[in-house]
Amino acid sequence: MIMKLRIPDYILSIAPYVPGKPIEAVERELGILHSVKLASNENPLGPSPMALQAIQQALGKLNRYPDDTGFELVERVAAKLKVQPKNIILGNGSDDVISMLAKALLQPGDEVIIPNHSFSWYAIAVRSSGASPVGVPLKSFTIDLKGILDRITSKTRLIFINNPHNPTGSLLERGALEEFIRAVPSEIVIVIDEAYIEFVNHPACPNSVDYLNSDQVIVGLRTFSKAYGLAGIRVGYGVMPAFLAGLLNRIRQPFNVNSLAQAAAIAALEDQVFLKKSVKLVHEELDFMYAAMDQRGIEYLRSQANFFLINVRQDADEIFGAMLKKGIIVRAMTSYGYPQHIRVNVGLHEENVRFIDALEKTLSRNS
Ligand SMILES: *Cc1c(COP(=O)(O)O)cnc(C)c1O
Repeated sequence: MIMKLRIPDYILSIAPYVPGKPIEAVERELGILHSVKLASNENPLGPSPMALQAIQQALGKLNRYPDDTGFELVERVAAKLKVQPKNIILGNGSDDVISMLAKALLQPGDEVIIPNHSFSWYAIAVRSSGASPVGVPLKSFTIDLKGILDRITSKTRLIFINNPHNPTGSLLERGALEEFIRAVPSEIVIVIDEAYIEFVNHPACPNSVDYLNSDQVIVGLRTFSKAYGLAGIRVGYGVMPAFLAGLLNRIRQPFNVNSLAQAAAIAALEDQVFLKKSVKLVHEELDFMYAAMDQRGIEYLRSQANFFLINVRQDADEIFGAMLKKGIIVRAMTSYGYPQHIRVNVGLHEENVRFIDALEKTLSRNS
């Protein structure tokens, strides 16, 4: 059947996005209970309690379509960031904003520079428009800004930067990023994905919003999926010059952010207690996990996000499988170009203790 359809080659070339393994799938497949998922950088504290309450209050209005533009959420986000509402585009997760950018700005033949490897959705969104992702390898686990500049051609339309970077947790500092921005030709859009920015405690952490009014077209991406604990309800946003937001608004799916997500995000923005608690947990538990790695002589990378990379010095897929049998879901970094690294996110203290114990047993059995 598919032979009769004229499917664009660029669509056929796309491999589906591979998410972290859901808890339910692991438990069903292995017949186990009480597994721990540390694979998708989610917030282990659950959703913000204020968000939960807001969702409950919004349930009775589910017969109505959501507010199409997300007026109140946009107002609140804009006020918080000290930008204008016309600079904000909401998305069904920030993934949705990435898709809109690719749809609005790219066509077959265009090139998009992406640090290799990064969040795999960037390349999928780029390919969906028939454009070509151009991968620039990381250098010492950090985005190679000089390498990116060297790969710019007359076909380059977009550059993705991810700060802090997933999966390495490395951070580009303000000075380096600003020098890079100045060196990029102004007809190229620079997307700075700040999905983990709430967790950064580095004094030189740049903020994409500071560059909104520069000569360059800079798009900042933020999400409610990580620090705000709302990954399941899908809401994120982009901050960009008004002309670009207007362009995205033309192709944005109507009602792309559902009413529960809007209510949840409005409440979560106010819930500073929950946000602070989430960030504190990540910092305390990262220190705890680093110390545990040091004690066991296991090599790892210090991170500015809510996850970190561990060098298991053996096949990461095998370690992933062995950990899975112990009910611990991590992420093998094989497809991210690190065949001997796993990525693990910070869980609750007791989950982290179980992770460390399982890792120690797995590594000693396999070595
Ligand atoms: C988790 C993550 C996001 C967030 O995606 P949502 O669609 O908002 O859930 C965006 N970028 C990166 C790099 C991420 O790791």
